[in-house]
Amino acid sequence: PGEGVLEALQHADVAALLPAPGAESDKYRRGVVGIAAGSARYPGAAVLAVAGALRGGAGAVRYAGPAGDAVIARFPETLVSSGSPERAGRVQAWVVGPGAGDDADAVAAVLKADVPVLVDADGLRLADRAVVRARSAPTLLTPHAGEAAALLGTAREEVEGARLASVRELAERYGATVLLKGSTTLVASPGGGAVRVNPTGTPWLATAGSGDVLSGLTGSLLASGLGARDAASVGAYLHGLAGRFASDGAPAGAHDVADAVPEAWRDVM
Ligand code: AMP
Ligand code: MG
Repeated sequence: PGEGVLEALQHADVAALLPAPGAESDKYRRGVVGIAAGSARYPGAAVLAVAGALRGGAGAVRYAGPAGDAVIARFPETLVSSGSPERAGRVQAWVVGPGAGDDADAVAAVLKADVPVLVDADGLRLADRAVVRARSAPTLLTPHAGEAAALLGTAREEVEGARLASVRELAERYGATVLLKGSTTLVASPGGGAVRVNPTGTPWLATAGSGDVLSGLTGSLLASGLGARDAASVGAYLHGLAGRFASDGAPAGAHDVADAVPEAWRDVM
């Protein structure tokens, strides 16, 4: 990594960051990731975020929200609870927002937790900027261009036309690390410094639910101990590679991308 404006993520850098359990690890030491996502209307977002989280290195995935039945039917290893994230038990990092609809209480509860938090999708709309700024634990925001535009109070085209400036501006305004999704994914942290660029990925990732997989995967990396900037970088890199492996030039669904994360991980190792 150099001192330039942009820093391309490289295989070797990502390999060095991949979490690996030590000989004495147990599931708690590996980290527990909490997923507060999904709604009656969008239960699938919860399933896909959990699908990503199960492949991101955490030792356990806790789900808190209204889509527990759908989650458990697909992933029986998930620790499911139906109430507020506040009552879900200890986690080392939270993911909040995918398919969350209008559950502002869940977003507020998660932002109160003194652990790293990844905010995506509906969570970005519901999160209070002053609360995000005041957090002492790391926060990672993962907007696509449309969500970034809403956060900046501008039009999507403005963000698309100035992606580098936009991601930096968001990081400063929110005092948070920001992963701006799109054809090239950018990662910026507050206080300046180089913006990381993810070179993996494929336009086949432009498919419903793809971002939900990324948020679960990246939250799991946070829970396993990576900082916000590194978790975002490794998450984007693996997600992009998984997209390539899943599609291999043909259409694939977001759940196929989640299934391909282990292959991406082994490729990077
Ligand atoms: P979301 O919009 O939240 O579903 O997230 C979409 C995911 O697909 C993000 O990880 C994007 O970076 C990725 N993606 C979307 N469009 C493209 C593209 N044209 N090329 C590469 N990746 C893309
Ligand atoms: Mg999304």
